[in-house]
Amino acid sequence: MLKETRGRGSWIYPERDQVIHGDATVAAPPSDHTHHETADEETGEIRRHRVDDDASHTTEGGGRKVYGNKFLSLAVRAANTPHSRVILALESIRHKSRARDPERDDEGTAVVRLVQHILRTAPGIRAFTYDTALRGVHRAPLIAEGIVVFTPQHGGLEPHPLHQRRSKKCTHKLYAVEGRACEWRLTVDGKAYYTPLPVDELERRKENFARFYHRLTIPCPEGDHGLRIRVDETKEDREIDPSTKKQRFNRTEHLRQIAPGTVAGNRLKGFRQDSESSHSRFDQSYPHKRVPAYGANAALLIYIGYAWVNNSISRALGRKPADLAS
Ligand SMILES: [Zn+2]
Repeated sequence: MLKETRGRGSWIYPERDQVIHGDATVAAPPSDHTHHETADEETGEIRRHRVDDDASHTTEGGGRKVYGNKFLSLAVRAANTPHSRVILALESIRHKSRARDPERDDEGTAVVRLVQHILRTAPGIRAFTYDTALRGVHRAPLIAEGIVVFTPQHGGLEPHPLHQRRSKKCTHKLYAVEGRACEWRLTVDGKAYYTPLPVDELERRKENFARFYHRLTIPCPEGDHGLRIRVDETKEDREIDPSTKKQRFNRTEHLRQIAPGTVAGNRLKGFRQDSESSHSRFDQSYPHKRVPAYGANAALLIYIGYAWVNNSISRALGRKPADLAS
């Protein structure tokens, strides 16, 4: 897995074992108590409890409230091979305000740091898939490392003007909508309608930093027009616009290397499910689905032990008979 052999898979359809997937989870501590002492309402009896001082209430992606410590895991697995998952990185991440937990990174920052670390030792990685917790600002530095980063698109983004092509015969206005370049059109009701432009190819160029381009076709009765647009963050994008005091264009938020909702996007989205399976197995490994340790650091140590066992099983079962004989 993660071999640097080229020619297998493409940037849009990388092989399963060239793609890292990741997710964060909240693991329950041994006790749900949040106060060290409680008084019985009827008798006034004081009871003492053990409390996990690092744990807190957080809301999961689906809106479910959970109590515990938050962990991040990144892994890879082979296609159609049971017990092939290898956990590559684990981290305990901040789930409170920075003031209450100044030592831990937030989820997005930790993801970027860990993926960059893995890329340094495994340059064969082609893509990384995660959930909506990762935004354009996190995707940009990973894309610059030369990989495809796939996450579902965050809702609520306004169409962003991208490009205008004018000639004597025709005008085309392009906008970034739902992660991809679209042509602006006006309906008979006078409403804006955005038609996604077909992407002919995702091009990648790598020197010190990688650049990714979409080769697009603008369909036109005057004859189709070809166009190339950058889908990684450019130097100009990062400049501060004096009128808004903000970065000129948060390109990696608005334009995606692989657009969500496409066949290639859904395939990569599906790869991420394996992380949830990994966390579920971790939870089930302990009585009452509770990590048998108090505090985020101790729980991380337990998780590292779990990953060690998991990876050892993958290693043992993944060995070819010839390896075992030697
Ligand atoms: Zn035209």
